Amino acid sequence: MKILLVEDERRIADFVCAGFKEQGFVVTHCDEGNAGFDAASSGNFDVIVLDIMLPGRDGLSILKGLRREGNATPVILLTARNELDDRVDGLNLGADDYLAKPFFMEELIARIHAMLRRISGERQNVLVVGNLRLDRISREVAWAGHTIDLTRREFNLIEYLMRSPGRVFTRTQILEHVWGYDFDPSTNVVDVCIQRIRKKIVALNMNDQEPSPIESVRGVGYRFHKPHTDV
Ligand code: CA
Repeated sequence: MKILLVEDERRIADFVCAGFKEQGFVVTHCDEGNAGFDAASSGNFDVIVLDIMLPGRDGLSILKGLRREGNATPVILLTARNELDDRVDGLNLGADDYLAKPFFMEELIARIHAMLRRISGERQNVLVVGNLRLDRISREVAWAGHTIDLTRREFNLIEYLMRSPGRVFTRTQILEHVWGYDFDPSTNVVDVCIQRIRKKIVALNMNDQEPSPIESVRGVGYRFHKPHTDV
């Protein structure tokens, strides 16, 4: 998950960034409103966490600008305790949620998950594709009922592919979403990570002839195998 944080208070930005990284989120931080707007309007984020009082351009103006240009990226506003009018304005301008400072990191993360569930209309936190079951909240993955012990990176990678079974993702896309940096043609971290996941699944799959759920698409990238749907 790629998150943009626009927050000028260094102390808050530091702990929020650290908390997001612990969750395995990929964070971009801007400490000024104009830069924040430019980053936000790139449309390249899953969530924007937006402070209201900012140097350069304030959060409500950024939000208004984004919605005006048709950018529907979910936005959660960070507000000071006394900014009730701003919260109301923010919701009217198309914010998806707000959180008053000071807040606990756990609450911000819970709000983000809740917001995404609400927005995507996904009631369940569990993805099931073929034999593989992934729980986004407990962060458990199981193959045919057997838990697979995955690293955070491996979990994020498989979750990313599993969201869109059958769709091919390039190494660049996978790198950007799971590692958060631009493609370096010399790196093979994606391939290495996928090999590790496959080995872990194969280890549970000894008696079974099922193909790996992660398919290589020659010269392009990878996709999560889309099983034929039963009647
Ligand atoms: Ca501020």
